[in-house]
Amino acid sequence: MAKRSRNNNHSALSADTLAIHADRHLNTTSAVVAPIFQTANFASTSPEDFAERAGQPRHPEFYTRYSNPNLQQVEHLLASLEGAEAALVTASGMGAVTAAVLSIVHAGAHVVAQTNHYGGTLNLLRDLLPRFGVTVTQVDQRKPEEFERAMKPNTKLVLVESPSNPVMRLTDLPAVAKIAKAHNALTLIDNTFATPLNQRPLEMGIDLVFHSATKYFGGHSDLIAGAIMGTTELIQKIWENHVIIGAALGPFDAWLLTRGLRTFPMRVRQHNQNALALAKFLEQHPAIKEVQYPGLDSHPQHELARRQMKDYGGMLSLEVKGGADGAYQLISNLKLGVRAASLGAVETLVVHPASNFAHYLTPEQGMAIGIMPGSVRVSVGLEAVEELIADFDQALGSVKTSKKGSQAHSAASARSQRSGAHD
Ligand SMILES: *Cc1c(COP(=O)(O)O)cnc(C)c1O
Repeated sequence: MAKRSRNNNHSALSADTLAIHADRHLNTTSAVVAPIFQTANFASTSPEDFAERAGQPRHPEFYTRYSNPNLQQVEHLLASLEGAEAALVTASGMGAVTAAVLSIVHAGAHVVAQTNHYGGTLNLLRDLLPRFGVTVTQVDQRKPEEFERAMKPNTKLVLVESPSNPVMRLTDLPAVAKIAKAHNALTLIDNTFATPLNQRPLEMGIDLVFHSATKYFGGHSDLIAGAIMGTTELIQKIWENHVIIGAALGPFDAWLLTRGLRTFPMRVRQHNQNALALAKFLEQHPAIKEVQYPGLDSHPQHELARRQMKDYGGMLSLEVKGGADGAYQLISNLKLGVRAASLGAVETLVVHPASNFAHYLTPEQGMAIGIMPGSVRVSVGLEAVEELIADFDQALGSVKTSKKGSQAHSAASARSQRSGAHD
């Protein structure tokens, strides 16, 4: 793998300072906040000048699908936060992973991925890639030896997600990076849940990182965006395909994303604290069967989490007693938790994953990857944590835990899942 060097002279600064200053030199105006370049195109002074702009990949002032000053600013900021040479922003997280994957594979290539991924990523692996002659092997992310066994001579890409959506399983990142490298395959991680504040995959040997910037980077449930980070060479190669796919981020959304990133480090610290406190409360609640949060001692991969994460993020899943009825009761009775898709925002967001995944997984397929009828995913927001805990406490008070039949059934399934997790 190519050596990574910092692409700015700020590398000694903390994330808090970088989030505020890393892109400042790219603002060529005297406005403290860079203006929004809400324009499709940029005028040249001469045919020679036009030829120069057209000929330079990612020229920031040529045509906004190629790049734009607002895109360049936020890309610089994101690269510095992730500790990468370069970044590329896209119109969504799916735009990022699709551009990256399609840049790495070709007809006849093989991809190793996980059984547990974000739903859109599962669609890409199961529906899109096979149509272009790309084969995919999905493995249990908790077992590095399954990655090793799945590698073939034509494996070009190992795609991982850790912690994975929605049940917070982890991948041993240094181990998988090493396996992929030994087989000359590139590694790509979805680092959306952890963020670079809590997990630094490039420092563990992973080649490329992507994010749904819709989530913690934007942070306010008001934009859709994606980002890919890695070496300048790889990002350039992905950009060549990205301009063809055309999922370009608009200047205003790039500007909003920059605005969100100014407070990103302090938001993530508070998300981390709130999630740990809520996870500890939920874990001892009699209406809860299990809490999945990598920061809890009870998480089956807590040791791995301690090794490869700095802190454990704002996402947790739990399993309510009483199956789907219990989950629905909890979700209905929350007063602060907002019943909405997405995550990583200032407000606490709560979803029923079995419903969310129902498009492409049967209930049995869902249970096979840990999505139980009683599972509830919580994106812990920035509310006062005592008040959040009180809200969950009152909502759980109404959960009937006496449904013996469905409880016994899902307890047995949960046990068989967990026994798998330990070997
Ligand atoms: C939301 C999400 C995505 C997809 O991102 P979009 O911005 O919705 O396209 C990918 N991975 C994870 C883990 C996500 O949460």
